[in-house]
Amino acid sequence: MIIKKTPEEVERMAAAGAVLVRTMNLLAGKVRPGVSTGELDRAAERFITSQGAVPAFKGYRGFPGSICASPNSMIVHGIPGPYKLHRGDILSVDIGVILDGWVADAARTFAVGPITPIAGKLLRVTEESLMAAVPQCRPGNRLGDIGDAVQRHVEANGLSIVRTLVGHGIGREMHEDPQIPNYGEPGTGIALEEGMVLAVEPMVTAGRHAIRVADDRWSIFSQDGSLAAHFEFTIAVTADGPRILTPWHEASSGGRAAA
Ligand code: MG
Repeated sequence: MIIKKTPEEVERMAAAGAVLVRTMNLLAGKVRPGVSTGELDRAAERFITSQGAVPAFKGYRGFPGSICASPNSMIVHGIPGPYKLHRGDILSVDIGVILDGWVADAARTFAVGPITPIAGKLLRVTEESLMAAVPQCRPGNRLGDIGDAVQRHVEANGLSIVRTLVGHGIGREMHEDPQIPNYGEPGTGIALEEGMVLAVEPMVTAGRHAIRVADDRWSIFSQDGSLAAHFEFTIAVTADGPRILTPWHEASSGGRAAA
């Protein structure tokens, strides 16, 4: 069942999203060689709680971190810890924030100093595929229009869509209906309606699309060890069109951390 939100409820989700964006910006300033993912996690948790909000991932089905930190061939759900970032790494950071009972969810992949051309292309194309999905999130379109926009851009650039992981509806719960694949046929699937709020999150690899779950039962890697990127917005379908509730792309700090 898809739970639609009133305009007032969308505003409350946007407030959660604003805390999330400020958290993402804080981390963007900290991502650099030598910093551990555990340090990023602690900084995020301190900031989120200082805002009167709650890190949505902490304790979710037993997840131990406040953020997910997934370097290199890890696609998603990395547990923050002792891993220290290296020059040339890419790092996907996924953040969930609960404010006054409403959840926002967003992710982006950072470059840690200069990265290889293929890594640079992966980050650029994955972010572009998310941006291509945004205008599809409007009343009258269908779910397949979102997946098609992502898939078309990613595959035109010779990269692979992860198929077994999908986006989701979001609201008072982090994961609500519908599931949102990053592939699809235009004009198919459920009709998008005002009040739906969607976490759209392309996950893309530079190799093949198959995944592997690690022994910690959280971390998900590309099976072939290829680099992976993850970009996500929480987006409200409004009468005026799509509204990004987690606009980390409007930050001045950019995605490229200092070397
Ligand atoms: Mg999500």
